[in-house]
Amino acid sequence: MTTPLFGQMMDMPLNVSALLAHAARYNGDAGIVSRRIEGDLHRYTWRDCERRAKQLAQALAALGVQRGERIATLAWNGYRHVEAYYGVAGYGAVCHTINPRLFCDQIAYIVSHADDSYVLFDTTFAALVDALAPQCPKVRGWIALTDEAHLPAMQTPVLSYETLLAAQDGEFDWPVLDELSASYLCYTSGTTGNPKGALYTHRSSVLHAFGAAMPDAMGLSTRDSVLPVVPMFHVNAWGIPHASALAGSKLVLPGKDLDGKSLYELMEAERVTFSAGVPTVWMGLLRHVKEIGAKFSSLERTIIGGSACPPAMLATFQQDYGVEVIHAWGMTEMSPLGTLSKLNFEQTQRPPEAQRKLLEKQGRAMFGVDMKIVGEDGHELPWDGVAFGDLHVRGPWVIDRYFRSDASPLVDGWFPTGDVATIDQDGFLNITDRSKDVIKSGGEWISSIDVENVAVAHPAVAEAACIACAHPKWTERPLLVVVLREGASVTREELLAFYQGKVAKWWIPDDVAFVDELPHTATGKLQKLKLRDQFRDHKLPGAVEGAA
Ligand code: AMP
Repeated sequence: MTTPLFGQMMDMPLNVSALLAHAARYNGDAGIVSRRIEGDLHRYTWRDCERRAKQLAQALAALGVQRGERIATLAWNGYRHVEAYYGVAGYGAVCHTINPRLFCDQIAYIVSHADDSYVLFDTTFAALVDALAPQCPKVRGWIALTDEAHLPAMQTPVLSYETLLAAQDGEFDWPVLDELSASYLCYTSGTTGNPKGALYTHRSSVLHAFGAAMPDAMGLSTRDSVLPVVPMFHVNAWGIPHASALAGSKLVLPGKDLDGKSLYELMEAERVTFSAGVPTVWMGLLRHVKEIGAKFSSLERTIIGGSACPPAMLATFQQDYGVEVIHAWGMTEMSPLGTLSKLNFEQTQRPPEAQRKLLEKQGRAMFGVDMKIVGEDGHELPWDGVAFGDLHVRGPWVIDRYFRSDASPLVDGWFPTGDVATIDQDGFLNITDRSKDVIKSGGEWISSIDVENVAVAHPAVAEAACIACAHPKWTERPLLVVVLREGASVTREELLAFYQGKVAKWWIPDDVAFVDELPHTATGKLQKLKLRDQFRDHKLPGAVEGAA
């Protein structure tokens, strides 16, 4: 074996502080606009942001925070949260973003499991902090992201973020950290069991930012005004605070109001060109824009992910409003980006219908993510768009174990995502289910996502979930659970007739149940486990006789 030849490049580890330092030095005038809790807009620049992030780093040093300690945030998308991202991680501590929509007991579990030493929180969460503090005795301090004048009345003794910063001068050199040291920590919401932590590294966060900014991903540049609707407490807002610093984009942060009207007004006022969020949020935005008969005057493209983007939503954005939808798939354990749906040159030459079909899928893997689908025997399945298999991934921003767990989840070096998918000849991924949500009828898999997508294309349907229901002959058959649009009506028979010609006959649900609302997780995903529980005793028509 020959001795490897080492390159002769500067030894500069990839640190997240470099993203902010770059933005401040080379695109320092680019703005960060935030809707504050008080409702007004706060404006400053990437240059200001770096200064204050450095003040925060100094404040952490003054509080005696050591490298590697976890500093948690309970906060909306706002400028102080961006400062925490960079001030905490840039200092060498770990910025642990917590989802404030989880139950109090779950948050207490997460804070204790992560061993957070300080918690930075938006004042909207004052009551939550009062409920949490007695359950989290190891937390050394609770820091309200506000000034003394706006400190809420609380039982818990708290520090003011602005007071801590005001005591520092911002004259601080970012330390050079080992790029494999921890940068961020995010717990998966998990529909079963305790939440599990995904601990990222500086290297993984910076590489992910490069990947996210690429043209076939977010395609970010200095000309973009970027509004992440996806919360900064959920997988680092899909890496947008990092990718926009790297690209020198303007950043627009919506705060706590994520209703259609608030988002639309902010998008228009700040000339937003790019946005990202889960389908539920876009439902509200599209409803509002339709109601007021408006158009998007600056929005060019949006990433939709987190759960499957219904084709009807994609069509509305593209055809009615001329906004490009980039359907994306990823997960907390992969920082989160994995695949994105963008056509290559050759695909843009195909007939419109073929293009549309491709864009509805979750797309092709970006550089940094390798994927395969495997069958029950563990063998890789063909990329024919037909074979369903368990989706496995690997890459430099995919975790190889959960925080504080020794057991490796990897299978032959690959991370099993828990998703079931097909991959077609174009290399386009199509997520058909979570493996635990799969419906197996007579030994064959039915894609609950495909069945749901047909239902939500019906004008009377606001939301739909397809779950497995026990069946004596076929083991399982699909049951469709539907929430109707306000004032709209459709019968079970009409809805089932709507499926004719849209999916294979045996995929058509055996029954429809109408409900007022569907259960969601804290990150807006359907809680199918809960729904299956709710409909455990549901009797499908014909099930007794054994006919499907
Ligand atoms: P989380 O870690 O909370 O972001 O959840 C990740 C999971 O959300 C994935 O494993 C998928 O099950 C689901 N998911 C994310 N994006 C999509 C998508 N575009 N289509 C379908 N499911 C998705």
